[in-house]
Amino acid sequence: MRLAVAGAAGRMGRLVVKHAVNEGLTVSQAFDIVEVGKDAGELAGIGKIGVNIEDEVERLDADVLVDFTNPNACIRNAKVAAKKGVKLVIGTTGFSEAQKKELEEICNRVPAVISPNFSIGVNAFFRIVEFASSLLYDCDVEIFEIHHRMKKDAPSGTAIKTAEIVREILASKGKKLELKFCREAKRGEEIGVFGLRGGDVVGEHTVLFFGDGERVEITHRATSRDCFAKGAVIAVKWISRVSRPGIYSMLDVLSENVPS
Ligand code: NAP
Repeated sequence: MRLAVAGAAGRMGRLVVKHAVNEGLTVSQAFDIVEVGKDAGELAGIGKIGVNIEDEVERLDADVLVDFTNPNACIRNAKVAAKKGVKLVIGTTGFSEAQKKELEEICNRVPAVISPNFSIGVNAFFRIVEFASSLLYDCDVEIFEIHHRMKKDAPSGTAIKTAEIVREILASKGKKLELKFCREAKRGEEIGVFGLRGGDVVGEHTVLFFGDGERVEITHRATSRDCFAKGAVIAVKWISRVSRPGIYSMLDVLSENVPS
């Protein structure tokens, strides 16, 4: 199985290269628009692997492409991958609604794991939030996330997904709520989602269920990006065994069922 990594010179891409090689996978191509010509293994801190960073994604020739870039670049890369029948693992976040639709159309042609968060802990957090929402549906719900100052999107893809999980469960209990990003005053029928930015925070997500006289808080804290990269490598191994096109989640990956 040949793995290509897009965004290979970035914070996440370097770690994906490192963990993929450590897991015995063959990284055969590395794409980025910076550090072009440099060895991807050296950038990842694991020594030369004989794969230089290139910037022409049209030269893609691999079995799976992992993308940790930005929304516009990711859509371009995914189009090339789908045209060539290359499976996708997408960690990029911050897509607009139109871009999400475009990705859905692209993934009608190839199998793709798309997850705003590849850490196993956050995927357990999603299930815990789902369970808590089914019991605490009478509560007010608010969500906040904290990330490093360089993060380009806000609120995080993980916070949006968490809010969507809560909203879906509450809707099944007859409580219809809007998602409101960084709003100023609560109007009662909203789930507020706040993004805080600063320092070198890797990623923190908290859901608060406010009742009368009590409060439940569920928090996930990432202290290193390694958990995301390790999860992405697990997703690469899983998607390499999937033949049916479509979008899969990290929870599908962790279920270990492989759709034929
Ligand atoms: P980053 O350090 O900025 O890395 C992204 C890299 O992609 C940069 O080197 C960037 O170059 C490069 N790039 C831009 N356009 C490109 C193109 N057309 N082809 C190839 N490479 C291109 O960002 P990061 O922290 O690694 O995060 C990347 C994405 O992953 C973000 O959307 C982030 O939110 C997301 N993320 C997801 C997870 C998850 O578990 N799913 C975890 C962490 C982060 P320039 O700097 O010149 O633009």
